[in-house]
Amino acid sequence: MSEIDASDADRTATDPAPRTPAHPPEAAPETHGLTVWAEIDLDALESNVRTLRALAPASEFMAVVKADAYGHGLLPVARAAVRGGATWLGVAQFAEAFELRDAGLTTRLLTWLSVPGADFAGAVRRDIDLSASAPWVLDEIAAAASALGRTARVHLKVDTGLGRGGAYGADWTTLVEHARRLETEGSVTVVGIWTHFAHADSPEHPTVLAQQERFFEAVAEAERAGIRPELRHLANSAATLVHPSAHADLVRPGIAMYGLTPVPQVEDDFGLRPVMTLRARLALVKALPAGQGISYGHAYVPEVDTVVGLVPAGYADGVPRNATNVGPLLVDGRRTTIAGRVCMDQFVVDLGPDSQARAGDVVTLFGGAPGEPTAQDWADATDTISYEIVTRIGARVPRLHVGAPRDDA
Ligand SMILES: *Cc1c(COP(=O)(O)O)cnc(C)c1O
Repeated sequence: MSEIDASDADRTATDPAPRTPAHPPEAAPETHGLTVWAEIDLDALESNVRTLRALAPASEFMAVVKADAYGHGLLPVARAAVRGGATWLGVAQFAEAFELRDAGLTTRLLTWLSVPGADFAGAVRRDIDLSASAPWVLDEIAAAASALGRTARVHLKVDTGLGRGGAYGADWTTLVEHARRLETEGSVTVVGIWTHFAHADSPEHPTVLAQQERFFEAVAEAERAGIRPELRHLANSAATLVHPSAHADLVRPGIAMYGLTPVPQVEDDFGLRPVMTLRARLALVKALPAGQGISYGHAYVPEVDTVVGLVPAGYADGVPRNATNVGPLLVDGRRTTIAGRVCMDQFVVDLGPDSQARAGDVVTLFGGAPGEPTAQDWADATDTISYEIVTRIGARVPRLHVGAPRDDA
């Protein structure tokens, strides 16, 4: 992933000035010469962390930064989250956790997806908390910890009805007993018990309360067996926003921290500010006659003589191919949609017969400023969720972190 230092680049006198500036000048990164880029507003991220913390003031705050911080850039986002008050970091994969530790972040850190043979020793050595959903995980953690002469910190995961990770039904009793035995031997200590919701994005869904009840029963069972967890946690973004009764000892927001709502059907932005803005520059502007089909398969055919622009961003950059003819854009001061197929590296926009646009003009795919399409608009247009829109932005798209002290990694 490339990162461009916005402050070091010098604009020369011959640069055409961007004609659609959407940021106040002091916040605008240098983007001259870039085809497509994602501006990441770390001030907005910090502000979102504060907003969410205020909703769950008695709980620890785990900033979920898996998947390159939902496509926003792992290290700068993790640092901004800590500045905003995050007391924990959470990631899915060991490699992500190792990257955080190896970059010098010392914040408490949980990682939760492992397979047999994973580098449990590397995790224990780096002071990373581990999740266990089955006895074999505990055994591998215990073996790694014993070999290092250390005690590993473990969060036991209970499946309270998501039907995905976690120990389900009678397996929970087995997991708890196994953990208790290993605690007695000194190789592991259970610091957390946790679960994840199936329907937290539907605030009225009856499974939310049922899972919560099942969770606290599972905690009680573990306590009866002698386990003394420091942290009980179950709230993702949606539960952090709309289910105070699920806040417990720690909340684990992801998407909301990035300024996107997990509950788009709820008419409330909760004071969150979108963090990512995806832009490109027109690579070519030209006239085409009525009836000339556009791009692969001629999925769009202009009815009148028109002017089209070539946008150098495609599905390799995370623009969904099924945004063909529907992906929303702000270009040349107006809202429009993609014309024709989204290709690997590019797509076309019909700028209209009277367009004065020129090569180099800025196209906004999504952002948060008034008039700009949002990641949610893209999700609605392509039948997915905003999570997928931002997370799948391609590795070759530079992330320009603006608004807060820059990452020094
Ligand atoms: C991704 C994830 C979260 C964050 O979910 P959001 O809906 O983005 O808030 C929390 N907990 C777990 C276990 C996750 O995998």
